[in-house]
Amino acid sequence: MFTPLDPPIETLTTGVVVVGAGAAGLATALNLAPCQVVVLAHGPAATGWAQGGIAAATGPDDSPAFHAADTAAAGAGLVDPLVAALVTAAGPGCIDWLQSAGVTFDRGTDGRPARGLEAAHGRARILHAGGDATGRAILAALTARAAAAPHIRRLDNAEATALLTDARGRIAGIIVDLTGRRLMIRTPAVVLATGGIGGLYAHSTNPPGATGRGLALAARIGARLRDLEFVQFHPTAMDLGGDPMPLASEAIRGAGAVLIDGAGRPVMAGISGGDLAPRDVVARQVAATIDAGDRVFLDARAAIGPGFAERFPTAAAACRTAGIDPASQPIPVAPAAHYHMGGIAVDLAGRTGIPGLWAAGEVAATGLHGANRLASNSLLEALVCGGWVARDILSTSPDARAPVIRQALRTGRAGTGEGAVAIGRLRAAMSRQAGVLRDAAGLDQLIGLAAAIEADPQLPAAIADRALVCRLIAEAARDRPDSIGAHQRADTTPLALRERSHVPA
Ligand SMILES: Cc1cc2nc3c(=O)[nH]c(=O)nc-3n(C[C@H](O)[C@H](O)[C@H](O)COP(=O)(O)OP(=O)(O)OC[C@H]3O[C@@H](n4cnc5c(N)ncnc54)[C@H](O)[C@@H]3O)c2cc1C
Repeated sequence: MFTPLDPPIETLTTGVVVVGAGAAGLATALNLAPCQVVVLAHGPAATGWAQGGIAAATGPDDSPAFHAADTAAAGAGLVDPLVAALVTAAGPGCIDWLQSAGVTFDRGTDGRPARGLEAAHGRARILHAGGDATGRAILAALTARAAAAPHIRRLDNAEATALLTDARGRIAGIIVDLTGRRLMIRTPAVVLATGGIGGLYAHSTNPPGATGRGLALAARIGARLRDLEFVQFHPTAMDLGGDPMPLASEAIRGAGAVLIDGAGRPVMAGISGGDLAPRDVVARQVAATIDAGDRVFLDARAAIGPGFAERFPTAAAACRTAGIDPASQPIPVAPAAHYHMGGIAVDLAGRTGIPGLWAAGEVAATGLHGANRLASNSLLEALVCGGWVARDILSTSPDARAPVIRQALRTGRAGTGEGAVAIGRLRAAMSRQAGVLRDAAGLDQLIGLAAAIEADPQLPAAIADRALVCRLIAEAARDRPDSIGAHQRADTTPLALRERSHVPA
């Protein structure tokens, strides 16, 4: 049901509203000084969960050009070369900025930040903080900086639910649900930094709130979205009954663990790269095995054995909670939605095409990732592009003016039970029909389900927005019949699993 904006509503006026308090949102807000900024946060940021590290060409044997070339190769020909050149060129400066903001990177014997190697990077260029806690260290430092910055006011448990535009189509404000209260913030400038979409899937490594709300808010006022079909799936999320699913990182396979099926047969046998093949190749093979009715396990017994807990404490803790001892038992794994390459189409200044609306971080699509993200490039992109957005906003001297409200806001009447059922059906359908392997028939079914949920007037706006994003992802996947990068069509590319030499029984 859609109703006009009902008073009473509290109002606030500010220069800029940044929606999201992860890497992108905080980098934008910090760089916006002295402009008055309100930062909204609603639930945990994926930034704090990033384990692998941040990529930047800081070594003497490396250069932004090498980094850009690796980025382009991972993106399967769809990376924008100018964006890759500029983001990678900004990498070393971004590391300096993080250090000045209080992030302490792990050091090598020469006292400089140690550089690690990661799959598909041609040089050792991954920087870590606190071992596998890089994201946590970055988020903590930027959060502390923002808390001390007089130009930033942060509102927690503040969910952005609608963007407001004036009669000329310019951003004029934003509606925010605080617990039990509704707030209208008048502002001429909004930056969407709402993160990814993993939470739309039943199998996800993302925080539950990563449901693409920013995509829906932007789409509802006419912003262009792009590349939505490109969703990166992590091949070895631990299938221990948890939601979200904890990661079994590539490092465990790097240490010799192997993927086996229910009968103990090696899943990656005969495939180029074997257990250390690229992430999307492994994800397809694991998915195909599961789709064939089997299960997949990560077997660390022989290669790692009793040393597992010491070498991989985070993974070991997740296993222990589920009653599994990886030293003596294989770990059940499945692919899970991990990163969204697509998003709100933006230019190099983060402009969306809607006057007054910018986007940065995972919710935005700059063209950096093409059809597949190079690991550890996303933190870099979020931080660098957040800075570029801030610079662009400062150059436009935003001044808050009173919005002429055109939108009607939707209020649902359904009870929480009906909402939970709709969410469960959508998430299951996303994993089944818009997962690692897609086909037109499944995508059409998903589109139908999402459209029906979207149109149900009894369901609240948050669920309609989820359904809208699911439908748009499914439509983008259906409308790209070829298989490329992370998007694999099982119907039009029967040998989509080009790397496979056999189909598991
Ligand atoms: C388990 C895991 C491991 C990863 N490891 C790495 C890695 O090693 N290296 C790497 O580069 N990348 C990694 N990534 C990806 C990376 O963490 C993210 O792409 C990046 O942190 C996104 O930053 P962001 O600022 O765009 O979004 P986030 O950090 O997700 O922040 C989104 C913010 O938006 C807020 N928000 C969302 N919707 C609303 C709303 N409607 N109203 C108000 N606020 C809202 C949230 O509360 C949050 O504050 C990993 C991701 C996961 C899940």
